[in-house]
Amino acid sequence: MGKLVKSEKEWKKKLSSVEYGVLRGQGTERPFTSRLLEEKRTGDFLCVACGNKLFSSEAKFESGTGWPSFDKVKDGGAVVLGVREHGGHEVSCKKCGGHLGHAFSDGPLISTGKRYCINGVALKFSSKNK
Ligand SMILES: [Zn+2]
Repeated sequence: MGKLVKSEKEWKKKLSSVEYGVLRGQGTERPFTSRLLEEKRTGDFLCVACGNKLFSSEAKFESGTGWPSFDKVKDGGAVVLGVREHGGHEVSCKKCGGHLGHAFSDGPLISTGKRYCINGVALKFSSKNK
């Protein structure tokens, strides 16, 4: 996968201030604010910054945390997991390095065991029925 490298100035121009705060500033959106929580259509969730396909709609589940949650990454190489001080992992986009959210090991799927807790502002939904 080709990496997308931009200066912070370029990212500021490309992203909205809310997106920038999460993706480049490691921020976290307020829970229950993402419209993607209600997204139930079939499709893919892409990185809003670079279009990298991160999660498929099949992996989305209702976690009750207030953030869009997934039990597995679309393609194992789409994200990078880093160490997080308070437990779990930092999740970032492998292509652009943007911060997406956090991963925990209490997911519902036995095969992955993961719960990816992702900021909705870092994602954009692409419906398959377009
Ligand atoms: Zn990205």
